[in-house]
Amino acid sequence: MRSDEVVGDMKKTFKYRLLGNNSTFNKADNWLRLCRELYNAALAEKIYAYSGQKANISSYSQMKELPELKVAFPEYDNVGSQVLQEVLERLDRAYKAFFRRARNGNGKVGFPRFKGRDRYDSFTLKQVGWKLGGKYLIIRNIGRFKLRLSRPIEGNIKTITIHRHSTGKWYACFNCDNVSEKRLAGLGKAIGLDVGIKSFLVDSEGNRVENPQYLRQSLRLLRVRQRALCRRNKGSVGRAEARLLVAKAYEKIRNQRSDFLHKLANHYVKNYGVICVEDLNIRGMVKNHHLARSISDAGWGLFIGLVEYKAAEAGRKLIRIPRFEPTSRVCSACGVINQDLTLNDRQWVCKACGVLHDRDFNAAKNIARVGQTLQELTYASG
Ligand SMILES: [Zn+2]
Repeated sequence: MRSDEVVGDMKKTFKYRLLGNNSTFNKADNWLRLCRELYNAALAEKIYAYSGQKANISSYSQMKELPELKVAFPEYDNVGSQVLQEVLERLDRAYKAFFRRARNGNGKVGFPRFKGRDRYDSFTLKQVGWKLGGKYLIIRNIGRFKLRLSRPIEGNIKTITIHRHSTGKWYACFNCDNVSEKRLAGLGKAIGLDVGIKSFLVDSEGNRVENPQYLRQSLRLLRVRQRALCRRNKGSVGRAEARLLVAKAYEKIRNQRSDFLHKLANHYVKNYGVICVEDLNIRGMVKNHHLARSISDAGWGLFIGLVEYKAAEAGRKLIRIPRFEPTSRVCSACGVINQDLTLNDRQWVCKACGVLHDRDFNAAKNIARVGQTLQELTYASG
């Protein structure tokens, strides 16, 4: 099998940082404001109709009012019609989701809210009003952005969503379909991954992956900046600046972590055909109150998500095993359960066969074994 063999089609989103000059970003900012005001006005109209005749105004009938809106407020003339239509579709989705949840009696039901400046941070382009030329994205009536293309866009672009982050940086998300799936060579080799207590993970071949040191440094910086934010008076200039610094620290952690997790996921997907992990939802019930620990747990969830989609893309298998047996307590050599094992035991000797175990390594080996069995059973049952 060739390593780049195409086996099917799928959807995928490609996200890039946008670079440009101030006047271009100011225009994009202005579009965001106009979209937000339209959203709020359309929501007000829906609420008014509902309180009067208990009727819903469809997004279709609101769309028919758009030409009139452009006459009354010429500044809307600059904004693409499809962009404005998408604002109304977005509102309609939020509105319908609210009624669906209310009907189903789901605990917390949030009514669609009027959006403040910070709560409305994206607009979406559909088929027209933009052009892609090399590294440049040109949006009609806004201008030209340079894309920081970390990888090429694949497939057909269906929509482009332009985001403004709380840090002031802008991003474009290209939502594509018809993206080819690529299969890698060398299936069959299985590996088990276990969340380490101190390390990020331990695999069934005994490799230990540590949490990167720079992540810890960034966490420390975040804590310092959060404390500084707490000391500022509400509404002061200093507070706004402190909030921006906190947002920047968060963004840095997000980017660093995402980079670390992508590389790690690529490593396992490239080298193994079957990747076995414990089901997180069940493990998620273990309570903990340590910041570092919960950050690393959140990272684990992200990591499994990445492995899952990269594995699907590469024709690999991710096997989630339910926590039906205590993976740490079973001897991976002879299968006898060690009932005396405590959380503090980093190493232990099996009383039945005498093998010395590293706790995490042993657990990872059990995960690989159970995962492989599950995989074979799935194949056997068709
Ligand atoms: Zn044993």
